[in-house]
Amino acid sequence: MIDNLTSLLGRPRFLEHLDEMVRHSAEFKAPLGLLIVDVRRFRKINRNFGHETGDQVLQGVASVLKQVARSGDSIGRIGDDQFALLLDRVANIGHAQLAAMKMQRLLDLPISTPEREVRCAVTIGISLCPTHANTSGKLLLSAEQALAEAKQMEQPIGFAVPLEEEGISSDWDIEVSLGDSILNSELRAYYQPKIDLASGRPLGAEALVRWQNASRGLLSPAVFLPVAEAIGFLKPLTIWMLNSALRHSAEWSQRWGKLSVSVNIPPHILAQPDFVDLVMSAEKLWMREHVDLCLEVLEQSLVADVDVAFEKLSALREQGVKIAIDDFGTGYSSLSYFRDIPTDELKIDQSFIRGLRQDRANIHIVSLIMDIAHRFGLQVVAEGVEDRKVAAYLKHQGCDQAQGYYFARPMPADEFASWLKTYQPDPQLFPVASADN
Ligand code: C2E
Ligand code: MG
Ligand code: MG
Repeated sequence: MIDNLTSLLGRPRFLEHLDEMVRHSAEFKAPLGLLIVDVRRFRKINRNFGHETGDQVLQGVASVLKQVARSGDSIGRIGDDQFALLLDRVANIGHAQLAAMKMQRLLDLPISTPEREVRCAVTIGISLCPTHANTSGKLLLSAEQALAEAKQMEQPIGFAVPLEEEGISSDWDIEVSLGDSILNSELRAYYQPKIDLASGRPLGAEALVRWQNASRGLLSPAVFLPVAEAIGFLKPLTIWMLNSALRHSAEWSQRWGKLSVSVNIPPHILAQPDFVDLVMSAEKLWMREHVDLCLEVLEQSLVADVDVAFEKLSALREQGVKIAIDDFGTGYSSLSYFRDIPTDELKIDQSFIRGLRQDRANIHIVSLIMDIAHRFGLQVVAEGVEDRKVAAYLKHQGCDQAQGYYFARPMPADEFASWLKTYQPDPQLFPVASADN
């Protein structure tokens, strides 16, 4: 009944349980989500590293499933390299997708076995009861079909096709709750200070979105932005963030002098024809003489249609909006962009900054980025500064600004306001600034 290797339910026991749960679900109108998790290239792992390592990989995947399951959910090993996770009371497909993405994120880290670390990836098929199936047999089949399709398309996650049978009441098919998060006041704008490395003073903050979800707690954007994109929710989310950031920064600037606020703009939103209008009308609403708005666009956004993107960014800069290129160094922008890129700031991606001093290659990359940016008159911001030594090194090298846990973590607006009140630059890093006080 119980699988010896993973101590999960074995296939027969899991299927029995699935059947009970589906009946129960129909009776109590509690929707279920079934995820079938298939370990990619498991045979190859077995062949290359031996069965013992193969077993440890399966145990590793089982432990990831246990981390994702909430109480009330159940997990089974339903095939040699296949697992099933049954989610109790899922609100919608977005919830099941969040669970699948969490699993995949946890598996980004390699699984440690005594001999080696093994990277392992999974493909996941998702089906909901009763949206996609109303019996346990059909539910299993539709999740298996979703899995097969995902494998064929080389996608990490596949979804079942909704049932079109009559007799299933439409109120079961609950709207994606992320779409309601604004109405329910569940989105939060967090702020992380950006520090001037010459003086140690805060110049402003980056606004970072969070979702305070009723059942799952505070969710980070890595978890829900892909869902937001899939359900077409990025535009309302961006507008909401723009307005929140402008409103909050107008409040701080009245008390603390002009501080800038940076808002992240996804590529898909930058590409919209009404993007410039959208920003200008938000600015007008919050009286822009009080605020200094900066938009962070990803390097990748500029690749698709450079001319159009440059045109929009130039139009915004003419109106006094600053532009930053976020996660710089991870995309593929060509050096010739620098000639006429309409931007004020380059933010060096944190992957180059963390552990900077131990990595010669990163030291070279960072100094090259700083050099080229300065030659073109751009400000350089280092992201992900986690300790004083890295901050001191960057300051010494002439980096303009820094952002990172060493200075402060992202925090809610009211906490950021208290932080501004009490923050003192580190006297060892900024002796002049502290002598002024
Ligand atoms: P980003 O714009 O590059 O934001 C920086 C991320 O690094 C933030 O993660 C921040 O919390 C994190 N971070 C800052 N300092 C440190 C540090 O010292 N160490 C480490 N390990 N991390 C640090 P967060 O808030 O989880 O956001 C992740 C990404 O999600 C952002 O990367 C951005 O691309 C996206 N994002 C966040 N908020 C929004 C938003 O409102 N709209 C859009 N479209 N994207 C957003
Ligand atoms: Mg950013
Ligand atoms: Mg970044």
